[in-house]
Amino acid sequence: MKGKLLNYDPEKGLFQIEACIYEGGGGQPADRIKVKGPGFYIESDEAFKEKGGTFWKVRSISGEVPKTEVEVDVVIDELWRLEVSQQHTAQHIFSALAEQLYGWPSEGFAIFDDESKIELLGADEDPEKYAQLERQVNEVILRQIPVRVYVTEEVDEKLRKHTDYEHPRIVEIEGIDKCACGGTHVTNTGYVGGFAILKVERKNTRYVRVIFAAGIRLARIAKNYIEREQKLKNLLTGDVEERVFQLLEQKKQLELEKKNLLELVKVQIAQSDEVFWKNLPLDMQSMKQIAAYCNEKDKDIVLVNQEGYFAMGGPNANMHFEAFREKGASGGGKGVITGKLTNNDK
Ligand SMILES: [Zn+2]
Repeated sequence: MKGKLLNYDPEKGLFQIEACIYEGGGGQPADRIKVKGPGFYIESDEAFKEKGGTFWKVRSISGEVPKTEVEVDVVIDELWRLEVSQQHTAQHIFSALAEQLYGWPSEGFAIFDDESKIELLGADEDPEKYAQLERQVNEVILRQIPVRVYVTEEVDEKLRKHTDYEHPRIVEIEGIDKCACGGTHVTNTGYVGGFAILKVERKNTRYVRVIFAAGIRLARIAKNYIEREQKLKNLLTGDVEERVFQLLEQKKQLELEKKNLLELVKVQIAQSDEVFWKNLPLDMQSMKQIAAYCNEKDKDIVLVNQEGYFAMGGPNANMHFEAFREKGASGGGKGVITGKLTNNDK
């Protein structure tokens, strides 16, 4: 496709271009484009609108861009355009059916890089209703209804949403939806290729947010999940759910064993004549429990683990702590005193 590069600001990394491309808006992201001119090449996948028009962000650039306007070749990422058009067309069908079936108008529509959202005004969260909606959207896809786009001379009061345009661009899916819209769409509902609601969540008292995906995007999401599941299977060596359940059971068992061992250890330590125990393979919580037990028994105890954390108790705990503090340890507490030695004094 031919186009015209109007200007390029190397400091901001922005350029303006005239071509038959979608510049974004109405919840739909812009085309992803490649611009080839005499001696330079630019890629962009983001545009925004400002007072001075639409600005494209440079993602990558090579060569020298001239200071004046220049004729260029523009190539659109057609798969991205299809993906976005599938989401957008699916949204028309979904929004029309949500309003028709349950009287829920759509607002706050947006297509993101990996998912799309619609916010339904006054909707509830009944899963049955969403299952029904999902099914009906897929039935409209199955029926392969043409998606007609035209500019009308008169404002039709039967539009799904109000428009202020005098000559609005109408997108019509016969018998399903008729709406003023400036976005890109597939030419037939069949090309939406499949639709799924991925999440339904309450946004606030007024709105329910629906996350959905259609077509090649839905396929990509499914593929990502299957790859992730396979990685987890390899990591866990077996069925993910089964193995997670087993591991949780094992964890419970180990915690119980740890608790029993700790009971045994704390009695042994309390009965021993030793006061100083260093380099213990215990965490702070376990040491605190032992120190608290010794404290109850009026037994002096100083426990230090391999990381240099300590817990102490007994009648002379304060004295032992002072000795530690003089060597730079930090910490505190009443009854049981806990803290950490300096790094070079374990
Ligand atoms: Zn549209």
